[in-house]
Amino acid sequence: MIVEQIWTGNSGRNFFYMVACAETGEAVAIDPIDPPKCLAVAKDKGWDITRVFNTHEHADHIAGNDDVIAATGAKLIAPYNAGSRIPRVDEGVREGDHVKIGKTVDLEVIETPGHTPIHISLFGHNDEPHLLCGDTVFNAGVGHCHTGDPNVLYATFRDKIAKMPDGTRIYPGHDYISNNLQFTLDREPDNADAKALLADVEGQDPDAALVTTLGTERKVNTFMRLDSAGVVAGIKEKFPDLPDTPSDEDIFLSLRLLRNDW
Ligand SMILES: [Zn+2]
Repeated sequence: MIVEQIWTGNSGRNFFYMVACAETGEAVAIDPIDPPKCLAVAKDKGWDITRVFNTHEHADHIAGNDDVIAATGAKLIAPYNAGSRIPRVDEGVREGDHVKIGKTVDLEVIETPGHTPIHISLFGHNDEPHLLCGDTVFNAGVGHCHTGDPNVLYATFRDKIAKMPDGTRIYPGHDYISNNLQFTLDREPDNADAKALLADVEGQDPDAALVTTLGTERKVNTFMRLDSAGVVAGIKEKFPDLPDTPSDEDIFLSLRLLRNDW
């Protein structure tokens, strides 16, 4: 299974992805917001893009669909419940469906709503596990909920992300790692793992960005550290009306609120 992370260099700091079968060269373009770059990578690698896949409906994930499809004849796959949010969908997919690419790649569809109501991610079972997670998990952060629901995003993390193995490689839709690690350190100034990682990635070339694992995220991503004494104490200080022993959900929602204005 080949996963190519492609940096766009746009103002939204978007990444998009191509996943290809090493045996057949068949490829799927995931949220290909920069069609010239997408088509150039396919040409360079000798890949045949047969499908475009959207994780969710935001313009910075779907606006490249038409040009890639016009150039390749690819079919468009999107969440089954996209409706008019994503135009011209050929195939809708839902929890538990599998997207097979060539002979070797099998991506499982995981519904991960919260950032938007219809958001889906792809979990690759080949080799080491991979999670192509759109705007659900970011390096050291999570997606905003301006067009979604933070309660639903919490449930996605509790019920889905928390159950994935530590070795899962994380492929997010944007490069926000430095800013997010600074938020972690604002909440947990003594987090040595976050300090060390920030020193490693500050000023990194996003064309060769570090790919983290869930094991690393569990050490440096505040939204996955809901039982850390430091995180809980900091939230209780900011939100004195919370119960004496706040729930994980209370902490997650409070962190999401703080991050909105941070
Ligand atoms: Zn989005």
